Amino acid sequence: MQKENYQHIIDQIKGTPAKLVVVSKTRSLEQIRPFYENGQRMFGENRVSELVEKQAALPKDIEWHLIGHLQSKKVKHIASFVALIHSVDSLRLLEEINKQAEKNDRKIPVLLQFKIAQEESKYGLKMPDLAHFQVEDYPFVIFRGVMGMASFVSDKPQITNEFRQLTYYFSQLKTLHFSNNPDFTEISMGMSGDYEIALAEGSTMLRVGSLVF
Ligand SMILES: *Cc1c(COP(=O)(O)O)cnc(C)c1O
Repeated sequence: MQKENYQHIIDQIKGTPAKLVVVSKTRSLEQIRPFYENGQRMFGENRVSELVEKQAALPKDIEWHLIGHLQSKKVKHIASFVALIHSVDSLRLLEEINKQAEKNDRKIPVLLQFKIAQEESKYGLKMPDLAHFQVEDYPFVIFRGVMGMASFVSDKPQITNEFRQLTYYFSQLKTLHFSNNPDFTEISMGMSGDYEIALAEGSTMLRVGSLVF
């Protein structure tokens, strides 16, 4: 654990709406425990199998976030416990999450992931994908906000613009679909290399891994 880096981020977000999700993918249980002992409760994983194993092995008051691409057929493995799915990138996936949530007699909180990066490989929705979207179709889903990943570049203006695009999607969706929904508050953006830009652009959830491990 890079305790100074971790503490620096904690100090930076103190008194702001922003929260820190420690991205623990590929890290061992021994590497994760010191964060827990420091009071960290939100952890993010990008693979279902790893998430399931770590959830079983670590304390039950951890909030597990799924931040990576999720295949519909794997939703059932995490539906009983996942605290937030950041990576909802299709309506088909949303339907499956709704279905598995109902089976587990709970509501599952999600973020809608938008494609904001220039790079072709990144997953995510575009606004037209939501042309036929209706909140009422997903009674077992709690819509908490949006998520995005900026391009992996060092061009600060480009990253800034991409985060602004996500903030714009958030406010458009809020107006169009969630104006009466007090749960729709989160903008998940910012990783080790760009979290300070993300904070300046209104991030409420930082997903930071390598900088703090
Ligand atoms: C790995 C990952 C992160 C964290 O990346 P770092 O550069 O290690 O901070 C954040 N978000 C997603 C979706 C990731 O896959």
